[in-house]
Amino acid sequence: MCILYLADPAAAGEWRDYLSTLAPELEFRQWPDIGNPAEVLYILAWEPLADLAEQFRNLRVLYAAGAGVDQFDLAQLPDQVSLVRLVDLSMADIMAEYVLLSVLALHRDILTYQEDQRSGRWQPRPIVHASQRRVGVMGVGNLGRAALDRLQPLGFKLSGWNRSLKNVPGGRCYVGLEQLEHFLGQCDILVNMLPLTPETNGILNAARFRCLPHGAGFINVGRGAHVIEQDLLDALNAGQVGGAVLDVLVQEPPSPQSPFWKHPRILLTPHVASDVQIEGGVAVIVENLRREREGLPILNVVDRSKGY
Ligand code: NDP
Repeated sequence: MCILYLADPAAAGEWRDYLSTLAPELEFRQWPDIGNPAEVLYILAWEPLADLAEQFRNLRVLYAAGAGVDQFDLAQLPDQVSLVRLVDLSMADIMAEYVLLSVLALHRDILTYQEDQRSGRWQPRPIVHASQRRVGVMGVGNLGRAALDRLQPLGFKLSGWNRSLKNVPGGRCYVGLEQLEHFLGQCDILVNMLPLTPETNGILNAARFRCLPHGAGFINVGRGAHVIEQDLLDALNAGQVGGAVLDVLVQEPPSPQSPFWKHPRILLTPHVASDVQIEGGVAVIVENLRREREGLPILNVVDRSKGY
């Protein structure tokens, strides 16, 4: 029984060490040394693999080396193969830290002060108390909930928008497309933490940005394709969106000519808001091995009907 590793080659040694300690029954193989493909029961991959079903007839679980699974074509996966996300608490913690940093940066107007610094301007601006700042999170899942929990002690007015009703600490959860505009209308800072699916692709467009209070902040840690990027740039240039912290873009990295590099109202990071933590990811694999042995349902399986 073996797991085939097709994720970041630089991290392979660490995955191998953790797995061989915690699941010694599982042989670790690294692509392209697949050995006998019939022995491959598990694959850990960041990108989809062509001819997966034909090559690995005994494959049981495809572990996605990330929280998002939009890179995989679920329709291509054989029915007997489960797609599993390696999400764990530490990954959510790291994401919550990034969201906290970004909310605080927008809340305390860091983009403006950065512009002031560059042009030699010393100009204090009014301070808004956190209790007067409304922060809304789209997607109250593993990561969204962790971010809300991290923001709550700072006193922000919190809300969430989600497909199903979720508990939002200290605030309201808006549900479904019918309540999206209402939700957006009360977000001084909007944080996108949705998974990318056919329903959420391009969900943040010009009309939706117009729903936000004028000058609202925007943080995107979901996926670039949630946003119609030209609409965001137009909204930023018009001041409708006052500033944006973007960790994800449609094209990563953007082309050298992309306006995202130098826009004064954008803080850009290279898709680093969070990442699978090896120790936590291995813990999911080990727990799922135990569950398989005991005939229990395995954890973190992607729901094919929902796409996340
Ligand atoms: P989860 O699956 O735990 O949560 C997703 C949430 O979004 C769920 O609460 C779900 O609602 C909601 N949702 C999904 N579709 C819709 C919709 N059409 N309308 C309203 N709500 C919807 O995912 P995670 O929180 O673990 O991860 C979220 C995303 O974060 C990932 O898919 C990935 O794209 C991104 N990510 C980004 C990283 C980065 O470094 N920038 C790192 C890791 C993840 P319901 O509960 O009702 O199903």
